[in-house]
Amino acid sequence: MSLFNQKYFKVSLEQQPKEADGVLWLKCKNCRELVFKKRVIENFNICPNCDEYFFLTAKERIALLVDEGSFQDISRPIVAGDPLEFVDSKPYPQRLEEAFQKTGLHDAAIVGEATMGEMPVILTVMDFQFIGGSMGSVMGEQIAHGIKTAAEKRCPFILVSATGGARMQEGIISLMQMAKTTSARQLLAKAGSVFISVMTYPTTAGVQASIASLGDIIVAEKGALIGFTGRRVIEETIKEKLPPEFQTDQFALERGLVDRVVKRSEMRKELIHLLQFFGNKKSKSKKADKEGINLLKQGSAHG
Ligand SMILES: [Zn+2]
Repeated sequence: MSLFNQKYFKVSLEQQPKEADGVLWLKCKNCRELVFKKRVIENFNICPNCDEYFFLTAKERIALLVDEGSFQDISRPIVAGDPLEFVDSKPYPQRLEEAFQKTGLHDAAIVGEATMGEMPVILTVMDFQFIGGSMGSVMGEQIAHGIKTAAEKRCPFILVSATGGARMQEGIISLMQMAKTTSARQLLAKAGSVFISVMTYPTTAGVQASIASLGDIIVAEKGALIGFTGRRVIEETIKEKLPPEFQTDQFALERGLVDRVVKRSEMRKELIHLLQFFGNKKSKSKKADKEGINLLKQGSAHG
């Protein structure tokens, strides 16, 4: 099948991928000002007027995070099948093809190896523009592939989520990706590789309820929407009004769902800081590890 024979797409870090689309000005949805696109890009895709965050594609996100020129796309060259022959407003294969035309991606996640602060990392980064960053069979496989590679190389794994959750066009197969990615995650623990989960706007539903919440450290980008189900559905179910700050970054932080909230402009620095911290920790003696395990055992015996 020709689709399976396509080569890996490459991510160019030399220039922002969308600069060539001829658009010079963007309208900010928050302050409604027209802003010069080049200035927005230079400012981490943040509105220079009002600090509103513009959406980042996976490629733009990668370019902001990794050492320049270090990224190598190692995504598996696969595309989704259509086992349910699913049709909503259009057939699923047509939806996939349109998303490919729009984003240049074969699905909603890119896997790559790179360095950050000269430390090797494996990243899986989602792209919300591809069918809402939804997790179907391909994304599940790309996440598992990233995890396996990181475990084999015994290097850190970073997952950057931007997703509305499971992909309904794949039905139960999309839900199975929650179990698949969750079970793959154990490989990192066995290999002693740290897993940093980065939640951006939005990280919701099936992804938030599985792999994105299983990081050793969970970092939310400022402004992230983090939750399982939308506000309206919950309010109608529990017949209660939810607080205005419900499912915001701060709400998640105060309740321990995330460990840190970090501005986009600080994210690379923060992740490098965390990588250094865990890198140093790993180089400690086996004796210290043993002591740590003993402490944990004592803790669980008393708890
Ligand atoms: Zn603005």
